[in-house]
Amino acid sequence: MPERDSSTKWIFVTGGVLSGLGKGLVSASVSKLLEQRDLKVVPIKCDGYLNVDPGTMNPHEHGEVFVLEDGTEVDMDFGHYERFLDVKGKGDWNLTSGKIFQRVIDRERKGEYLGQTVQMVPHVTDEIKDWWRNIATEEDADIVIVEVGGTVGDMENQFYLEAARQMRGEEETYLIHTTLVPYLETTGEQKTKPTQHSVKALREVGLEPDMVVGRSEKELDEKTKEKIALFCDVDENEVVSDPNLDTVYRIPMMFDDQGVDETIARELDLPERDDGMKDWRERVGNLVSEPVAKVAICGKYTDMDDSYASVEEALKHAAAELGGSVEIEYVSTEGIEPEELDEMDGIVIPGGFGSRGVEGKIDAIEYCRENDIPLLGLCYGLQLMVVEYARNVLGLEAASEEFGNGHEEMVVAELPGQKGIEEKGGTMRLGAYTAELEGRVKEVYGSSTASERHRHRYEVNPEYHEKLEENGLSISGTMQDRELAEYVELEDHRFFIGTQAHPEFNSSFQSPNPLYLAFLEATK
Ligand code: GLN
Repeated sequence: MPERDSSTKWIFVTGGVLSGLGKGLVSASVSKLLEQRDLKVVPIKCDGYLNVDPGTMNPHEHGEVFVLEDGTEVDMDFGHYERFLDVKGKGDWNLTSGKIFQRVIDRERKGEYLGQTVQMVPHVTDEIKDWWRNIATEEDADIVIVEVGGTVGDMENQFYLEAARQMRGEEETYLIHTTLVPYLETTGEQKTKPTQHSVKALREVGLEPDMVVGRSEKELDEKTKEKIALFCDVDENEVVSDPNLDTVYRIPMMFDDQGVDETIARELDLPERDDGMKDWRERVGNLVSEPVAKVAICGKYTDMDDSYASVEEALKHAAAELGGSVEIEYVSTEGIEPEELDEMDGIVIPGGFGSRGVEGKIDAIEYCRENDIPLLGLCYGLQLMVVEYARNVLGLEAASEEFGNGHEEMVVAELPGQKGIEEKGGTMRLGAYTAELEGRVKEVYGSSTASERHRHRYEVNPEYHEKLEENGLSISGTMQDRELAEYVELEDHRFFIGTQAHPEFNSSFQSPNPLYLAFLEATK
């Protein structure tokens, strides 16, 4: 076992009743408040699924795949952490059952457990505890907040809960249990039974909550709080309302008003806090005021879900910086009439994969280019901007290898390093890379370089760089001696910029991404 930093304190966040209660937001909000005490807070997320990372899952089922600086594809909860906190997450901070089992089985094959029967307890649970403690030591963390994904009672997360139970006996810990408190219209009551049952399930695995957070439509009323306190063996100030709010950025403020971090600080004996939340509160105020712009995100499906979470949040961060909110509309590009875009102040063509909806996106790009409508192209968005330009300005029968039929000129082609890769997990060009900038993007970033995160297999085909530039589409951000096109832009346009990266992964509520900021400014 690694030498542990005994000063680290541990907060566990579990969930009951059902999934999707926003445990990630609870963890991020509590962490935000604790950060105001000048503490280094490191978030860890534990997922039950057997995928090694979420990169191979369907984002329409599981939500957006978030990419970290180091190129690891992680659960979208990391997006909340990075947007709320002053941290850049690391791949190791997202445990999955896939990662844990892979490690235990590797050890077994190497003979590290020779002579032993390898078991869930203690071998798997030890592996988890070591993993957690290694992070605490490596990061020199004051607080580690461990969010256990899923719901108490699930088969999938049992061994994380067992590891947490053991930690409760070995370290200074605090446990926040998030549950659902439904409102029954017929009796006009908030019902606490599901919470009681989920705390019972928690007790069955040897855990007692220190705080119960009740997700509900409205704030918990006094009677409900009393009841939960009584049945769950917590004080009334340890029962916390987590009602529906106008913006998720209000959650830390709402927890603050209920003294959540005061309570935790008392229990864990944490230092005094300064009031760094003033700027945060101001930004929340902006975010619920008049919109500064109406922006369309042009995607593949009509029922847009969590797949563009970071894009949406990055737009909000920029708006709050500019003193207002942003109205976002999702427009499906399957069967789109580009004139629909007339009422928009700006258009985002987000990242994507495959051929569905591609022609509609290309039509939308053409419309923005010709009608001087601000356009921000992200990853696939940049690639399609290049295809559109090649078709309509260069007059080529152009496509990308990703969707072409093989006869066109492939102005977007597989990255050299991608050829012949058959495995799909974690094999794209992933993580942060630094581009050399010129032109407008150089002004936008206020620097001759920009580091942003990537997640792609294809790139602008270098054979066409010259032709594109000669005809007015400038490749204003590059890498590897201009071999890779990282940014493209049009000079005589209000805003027509595409990036091969995903700058939305690098935007937080209190420091918006420069490219998003410039885009939103241009829409005004
Ligand atoms: N499908 C494109 C590629 O793999 C774009 C990926 C993306 O938008 N994230 O290169």
